[in-house]
Amino acid sequence: AAVIVAIDGPSGTGKSSTSKAVAAQLGLQYLDTGAQYRAITWWMLNNGIDVHDAEAVAAAADKPAIISGTDPRTPTITVDGADASGPIRTQQVTSAVSAVSAVPEVRARLTELQRTIARSAERGVVVEGRDIGTTVLPDADLKVFLTASAEARAARRSGELTGKEATDLAATREALVKRDAADSGRKTSPLAKAADADEVDTTELTLEQVVECVVTLVEK
Ligand code: C5P
Repeated sequence: AAVIVAIDGPSGTGKSSTSKAVAAQLGLQYLDTGAQYRAITWWMLNNGIDVHDAEAVAAAADKPAIISGTDPRTPTITVDGADASGPIRTQQVTSAVSAVSAVPEVRARLTELQRTIARSAERGVVVEGRDIGTTVLPDADLKVFLTASAEARAARRSGELTGKEATDLAATREALVKRDAADSGRKTSPLAKAADADEVDTTELTLEQVVECVVTLVEK
């Protein structure tokens, strides 16, 4: 039977690297739900929609066509047919995404899309996000909640950035803490640990150790 693994947690805990590696190792598909929220946000910014106007965002929530490629070795995302993998990682999108993802119509649309993708994954799928274990796939075979200290998360995130952004660790930490607070504080499916999730603190662990830990939990 297909195995469904939910991996949630705040930013910078190693969710993406872990989820991709676990999926690749177990021959499963991989779904990055954060990339979908980023893709909708990118489309809103491109189409002149004020991301802080919840009504405008809600009215446009169904407009962009979003397609996620689920091969863990080469995940892709397109918006209206255009490759969005690069642009969804810009600072502009990162600072707007929490506002867009707080809009219930956006969440309803993406939750449905995520369930459809997970259901159609033949061998199974590793789905990473903020509300996968609690809301999107409450029946997942395994739920993992990754955590790490704010210092470790900021250091990892700034390691992914380039140039000027990478040098400002304090600003990175501040932006990250602010985004997590917004994600945890929203009314509809906030960032949260499911009651039946296994929590893994990755602060002192290498990526390899986290991957091994999750693979062991899946195989248990
Ligand atoms: O995982 P990533 O940092 O790319 O996620 C970007 C943003 O998308 C999060 O800060 C959050 O606002 C939103 N998100 C969400 N629910 C998910 C995944 C991401 O609200 N399941």
